[in-house]
Parts: sequence; C-alpha cells; structure tokens
Amino acid sequence: MERFECDMCGACCRNIKNIELFKELDRGDGICKYLVGNVCSIYDDRPLYCRVDECYELFFSTQMSKEEFYNINYESCRILKALPRASWAAPNTEEEVPIGGRSSRPPAEREA
Ligand code: SF4
Ligand code: SF4
Repeated sequence: MERFECDMCGACCRNIKNIELFKELDRGDGICKYLVGNVCSIYDDRPLYCRVDECYELFFSTQMSKEEFYNINYESCRILKALPRASWAAPNTEEEVPIGGRSSRPPAEREA
C-alpha cells in the first residue's frame, strides 16, 4: 500500500508554535515534547493529526487525490526543511542529529 514518504527529519515536530491543534504537544518553545532527537517517542500512539495517511483517509479523500494531498504535504516539508537550521533543528538531546534525519525504523517502514 502506498504510504507518505517521511524521512523523519523532525522539522515539522519542531515547528508547532502557535498551532492550536498542537498546543498540548508544545513543550514551550515550539518543539513537541515527545520528540527525542529526531524520533517521535510515542510514534505508534502519536495523535491522529500527526498521521498523514490516516488524515487523508478521514478528512481529505473526498476533496482531492492522494497524490495531490501528498504533494501539498511534501511542499510543506520542503518549506520547513529550508528554514534556517537554528530556528528548528536544535535537538532536545545531547546527541547531534544530522539534517536529513534518521529513523529508528528501516526506510521501507517509514510513514508520517
Ligand atoms: S519529512 Fe516532513 S513529515 Fe517527515 S519529519 Fe520531516 S517535515 Fe515532518
Ligand atoms: S507526537 Fe510525535 S509525530 Fe506528533 S509532533 Fe510530536 S514528535 Fe512529532
């Protein structure tokens, strides 16, 4: 089954400031309190609005094709990744995390 291709860069999880939907996740500086390095520490239990494919099926599938929805999301990813690194990429661990991301999962299993 086709899945949204997320490289787990963490840029979206570091840019939730002033977004009502993510208010409860913000640790106070616009970074999600569940992000550890570049990895979501509650990945299997993350909120619905963190799940691209599920959100498409539930809310957008009657409005646009999956390809269109993916492209909107990929464009958002591109914009977030292009932000100055200092504005979003300060890891909340002592460990340095490279731009481009990493995942605790193999690429074939990645999803957003
Ligand atoms: S690739 Fe996109 S959805 Fe995945 S972590 Fe990065 S910004 Fe978020
Ligand atoms: S819950 Fe997980 S996927 Fe959602 S914003 Fe936080 S770290 Fe990112």
